[in-house]
Amino acid sequence: MSKMIDRRGFGRICAGAAAAAVLLGRGTASVAADLPHVDENSAQAKSLGYTSDASKVDKAKYANFVAGSQCSGCQLFQGGAAEWGPCPLFAGSAVSAKGWCSAFAKKPA
Ligand code: SF4
Repeated sequence: MSKMIDRRGFGRICAGAAAAAVLLGRGTASVAADLPHVDENSAQAKSLGYTSDASKVDKAKYANFVAGSQCSGCQLFQGGAAEWGPCPLFAGSAVSAKGWCSAFAKKPA
């Protein structure tokens, strides 16, 4: 079952992410170790195509996937250099630095 996110939906996700980022504030990487890892089978993870291993992304399903992209290189990843870290799209859970989802937004160079 595939569910595409339209522009409004993406906008709502971004707005929520921005609000969550503000709420999370500093020091989020330090609490990441206490967070449960995102359940790849959760509705949110499935709707965003999240996987904890970017090498397993279904490239046919997610044409926007760029080889080599992963959470650690995403603007929304808040884990610093940690293996797992918070992402505002998955409040209360940690995503893998080696993971990926369809909302990936490359960090500026
Ligand atoms: Fe979050 Fe970005 Fe990873 Fe998606 S790719 S789960 S938005 S850090």
